[in-house]
Parts: sequence; C-alpha cells; structure tokens
Amino acid sequence: MAIRLSFSSLPLFAPRTPCRHALPAFALFAFAPAALAEAAGEGEAALTNVLLWMLVITFIAVVAMTFAAVRYRLALLRLRQVQQQSRQAEDAHQKTDALNRTLLQAVEQSPTSIVVTDLLARIEYVNHCFEERTGYRAEEAIGRNPRVLKSGKTDPKIYLNLWETLLRGEIWRGQFVNKRKDGCEYIEQATIAPVRDASGNIAHYVAVKEDITLRLKHEQRIYRLAYFDRLTNLPNRTFLLEQLKRLTRPGQTRPAACALLLTDIDRFKRINEARDHTLGDLILQSVAGCLREVVRKPNVAVRIGSDQFGVILHSASDTSVDIRALAHQIAEQIRQQARAPALPEEAHEPVTLTFSIGFTLFPDDGDDSPSDVLRRAESALYRAKKRGGNQVLSFEEHMLEEERQTFLIESALRAALPAEQLCLYLQQLTNSAGEPVGCEALIRWQHPERGLIVPAAFIHVAEESDLICEIDAWVLREACRISAQEARAGRPLPISVNISPRHFRHHDFVRQFQEVLTDTGADPACITLEITENLLLEDLNEVITRMTELAALGVHFSIDDFGTGYSSLSYLKRLPISEMKIDRSFVRNAPNDAGDAALVETIVSVARHMHLRIIAEGVETAAQAEFMRQWPEVIQQGFLYGRPEPAQSWLERWHQFPHPDDTGNTPHTPTAPAP
Ligand code: C2E
Ligand code: MG
Ligand code: MG
Repeated sequence: MAIRLSFSSLPLFAPRTPCRHALPAFALFAFAPAALAEAAGEGEAALTNVLLWMLVITFIAVVAMTFAAVRYRLALLRLRQVQQQSRQAEDAHQKTDALNRTLLQAVEQSPTSIVVTDLLARIEYVNHCFEERTGYRAEEAIGRNPRVLKSGKTDPKIYLNLWETLLRGEIWRGQFVNKRKDGCEYIEQATIAPVRDASGNIAHYVAVKEDITLRLKHEQRIYRLAYFDRLTNLPNRTFLLEQLKRLTRPGQTRPAACALLLTDIDRFKRINEARDHTLGDLILQSVAGCLREVVRKPNVAVRIGSDQFGVILHSASDTSVDIRALAHQIAEQIRQQARAPALPEEAHEPVTLTFSIGFTLFPDDGDDSPSDVLRRAESALYRAKKRGGNQVLSFEEHMLEEERQTFLIESALRAALPAEQLCLYLQQLTNSAGEPVGCEALIRWQHPERGLIVPAAFIHVAEESDLICEIDAWVLREACRISAQEARAGRPLPISVNISPRHFRHHDFVRQFQEVLTDTGADPACITLEITENLLLEDLNEVITRMTELAALGVHFSIDDFGTGYSSLSYLKRLPISEMKIDRSFVRNAPNDAGDAALVETIVSVARHMHLRIIAEGVETAAQAEFMRQWPEVIQQGFLYGRPEPAQSWLERWHQFPHPDDTGNTPHTPTAPAP
C-alpha cells in the first residue's frame, strides 16, 4: 500500500487529509480478523507472522494518524492566520475609503478655492469655494481653462513666470487679479503645484487660492493712513522720510542725483486767520492739485504739514539730467501755476499766492542721512522766507553755519535775561540849542566771555521767537522805572523805547504795559514807543486800534528809521503818532548830497504839516548838525552829542543839566498827535 504525503497540498485539502492517511491502517484492521482466522488455520508460525504484520501496520497507522493530526492542526492555524490577514486588509481598505471620503469632503468644503487641472490646464476638479468665489458651477468650469477668470489686470509676466516654474516641476506662488463670472474683480493669492503619479511623472496641477481682496484693502487703508495726508491726498512727511532713507542708503542702487524741494506759502497764516480755515483748506487742496500736475513720476510731491510741501526729484537712470536745472524749473513752475489757485465758488474771492522755495541736492559725497537732506532744504527755505519770500533759493554751505550760530545765540540769550547779563544803555536826544531833551533806551548784552554785544548781533535772533517780547518787556520796565525815578526827583525824563512788531502784536501787550506803568508809577506822557514801518505792513487796522488804545493812556508813538520802509503818507495820516525819526542813512549824506538833502527836507515838511516832532538820527559831524539846525524844531541824536552809555553814567550827566522849573514843565514834551 502506497501512502502519498504532499505538504504543498495540505493547506488546500487539510480537512480531508487525516482520513486519507489513516485509511490503510483502518483497512488493515478491517481485514485483520480474516487474516488471523486464515493464519490460525495455517499454523502457529503463520499466526506469529500475521501478528507481527499487524503490529507493524498498527505502528504505521499510529504514526500516520499523529502526523495527520499535526498537519491538520498546522493547516488550521494557517487558515486562521490567512483569515485574520484578509480581515485586516479589508479593515484597512475600509479605513482608506473612509479617509479618502473625508479628504474629499475636506477639499470640497475647504475655505480656500481648490482647482485641479490636467497637464494642458484643463480644469478637472473645482471645489465648492471655487464655485462660490467665481460664480462658475463645477459643471461649467470642468473642461475649461482657468484663463476664464482672467481680468486682464494681472501682469503677463506673472503668467510667464508661473508656467516656467511649473514646467521645471516646482511650486509657484503669486497673486492674480481675477474676475468673477459677473465681472467683479478680486485678488487671489495662489499656490500652484505639480501633482505626480505613482511613477513620479507630473500628471496634474493643483491650485490652492485664497481671496485676499479684503485683506489688501485693509492693508491699503492702513498704508494710506500712515503715509498719506488726508486733506490733500498727497503722501505725507513719513513717506518723504522713507523715500529719503531709500535714496540715501549707501550701497543701494539709487539715482545718480536727487533734489529735495521744500515750499511754503508766504503769509499763509494770515489767510487762515483773516478768513476761516475752510478757505485755508481749499487753498491747500488746490496747491496739492497743482503739485500733482507739475511733478511727474518718478518724482514725487508730498505735504509735509501745515502749508509746507516737499518735492523729491531724481534723475532716475538718466545721468544726463541736470538736477539743479530741473529743481529750478520745477520750482518756477510751482510758483507760476499755484499762484492763482482755482478755488470753488464758496471761496467768494480770488486769492493770489506767493511761494518761498528752498532746495538742496543729494546724496552728498559723504554719508547723507534723511535728516541731513531735510535740514539743508529747510535751511534754504528759511533763508528764502527771511529774504521776504516769493523766491527760490538753493542750499549753500554757509547757511548751516549761520543757523548754528543763530541757535547758539538764541540759547545763550535765553539764559542771559535770568543771569542779568542784559543791561540798559541810554543815548541822548538834543535840541537845536544843544540841551538834552530826553533819551533813547538801547539794549546791550554783557556776555561773560565775549564782552559787550550790540543789538545788531542778537536782536534779529530774538525777533524770530518770543524771546524779543521778554527782552522788550524788560527794557520797557527799566525805562519806566528810570523815568518815574527821575520824575520823583523833579527831573522828568522822556524816554523812547524800541518795540519790536512781534512784541507790539502780543495779545497781552496793552495789559502788560498798563501793569508796568502802575508798578513803576511812570508817567505815560514821558514814554515814547518807537515802532518801525514793518509793523504797518500787516493788519493795519488792528495796529491802529491797538495804537489808539495805548495813545489813550497818554503814551506817545514814534516812527523809527523813517524812510527806510514802505512809508505811505495815506496810512501815516491814520496813525496816532507824534514823532518821526529820520533814518541816519539820509542824515549822513544830507549836507553833501542834494538828493538826500531834498529827502530830509520833504520828511521835515511832511512832519511839520502833520504836527509831528522830528528827530534826526545818527548826527555824527558838525556839518550834519548844522544842516539840521535849519529847522530849529528838529531834535538830534548821534555820536556828536554822545554815544549810548550805561544808564547810570548817562543819568549822572543828566542830573547836571538844569531841570524843570517850578511849573513842572519837562524840558521837552512831545507835540500832541495831529488830529
Ligand atoms: P535804533 O532804534 O534806530 O537805534 C539807534 C541806533 O543808532 C543805535 O544803535 C545807536 O547806537 C545808533 N546810533 C546813534 N547815533 C549814531 C551815530 O551818530 N552814528 C551811528 N553810526 N550810529 C548811531 P544800537 O544801539 O546798536 O541799536 C541798533 C538797533 O537795535 C536800534 O536801532 C533798534 O532798532 C534795535 N534795538 C536796540 N535796543 C532795542 C530794544 O531794547 N528793543 C528792540 N526791539 N530793539 C532794540
Ligand atoms: Mg529806535
Ligand atoms: Mg532808528
């Protein structure tokens, strides 16, 4: 009997295998009784032989059955294992399916627009966000090219760069200005990436796009708030500084030559004060409009603040541009075109503007910083204004040094008053009989290191700030104190005091003056306030009102340096003045120069006609004194009679002169103002 053992077939037929292997053994046992009976009939030896065979067969059967049982067990285990694996595979499959479904839902419901195209950019898939954003339904979009979204406002270079990047197999990021189905535009931030198949070949492109229209709008709003002026819509000072920073940064590619122009409307404050601020705003808007016309890209116009505007000019890449000539040309255009601003009807009357313009070139040879550039341009502008405005000035090196000096003087002068470095000098006024009839109070600065400083070195600096008011107030109080002191001693002393326009215009001037009179006990009739013609240039009516108010207190007014300003007989008539001081420039040459002689003669006749007292300033020589004496009422002031000297020493001399008689008349009482 042949027993075939096939291990390879075991797993397949395992359930049947044990029976098959045990079969021969069972067969033997079935035939055994017959064999034994046959053997018993044939003798003992034969029986033994049969038993032996039975034993062998039994043994074989047992081994076969054991082997079969083991094989069966192994097959069973293997079967379970296979079943478990297939269950796991099925689980995994189900999980993958679920994940895929989730992913698909996520893509579908993503708040970013997702588009999948084939290699020819034909849309294969769009998600819900795409549909919502573009207005195209998936069925409409699929099969079409995403160019249906083109607005025409995206730079063609962007598409070129997109395709170059994708064809290199790289991811592209950028922005598109796209158009919805209904024509509305929106801006998308897109990331477009190639999608590779299992073999690594690019099979699709996927675009993930975010609508940044609103964000950009917010950003633009914030940018405008930070960098633009609300009234004129021009860029502001911060913008200017950023530009200057960029243009002066060393090592950067920057234009070969630039210029910064600063311009300022002359006397804009007056327009603003005289009329309401609405007119001021309209004027500023109109000037801004004009700047926009005159200043073309890449040059830029900005509003720095108040009535100050700036212009950055650059030669760009064209080095042949003469930047200085360009600056002059633009400055002139601004002056001409913004002269008569086109104002809306509500402005009621036309306005004529003049401009002061200062400019500087940059970048300088060395390290030029934005603040350096600005300072140079400001310096030139300041100079243009100081020279009377309505002009263009280019920066020159000495301007900065002069400003530095001015700054030093101003800070030292501020300290001078509390440190009691200011002192009062007096200069005599003499009548034609050679008698002193009063004096003029003149300031001096006793500097601890620089010695005695005359007003010419510092009054102009003081006049640029309220410092002049403090100085004038101090002189006025000192003069009143001296005058009152002399009056109490029976030597009433008329004193003339110089009042700067700024001090005179000070809102509290009248009250302060009254307070000084009360405090010192000075007789206002002994005080003459010297004003210059400059004071009369602006707001004449206001000046007249204030002068009348002060004249009512009994104080006198004199026009100092008469003939050097813009005198007009018509306004002189309206002023409550009692004196004119002929400027020393006419007095100096009058004896020898027929022209100056005629001028002095005219001034004297006008003063006579108006019943004004006349003082000839700067009489230095006997010839000048003699010339003036042809008008006996003319009072003389000059080095011939005495230089200005410290108040105390002048007063000592003054005390030696004969003084008012018992009637109490002062040596000189100014004539009453003409009616
Ligand atoms: P001013 O008011 O015209 O004063 C007369 C100036 O002429 C004085 O110069 C005086 O010293 C000078 N002077 C007088 N006689 C002669 C002369 O014969 N020849 C020459 N060459 N000069 C003569 P000072 O004191 O240097 O003052 C100059 C100017 O400074 C004054 O001109 C006045 O405008 C201003 N100033 C002086 N003190 C004050 C002050 O307290 N307040 C203000 N606001 N200005 C003042
Ligand atoms: Mg004077
Ligand atoms: Mg004078």
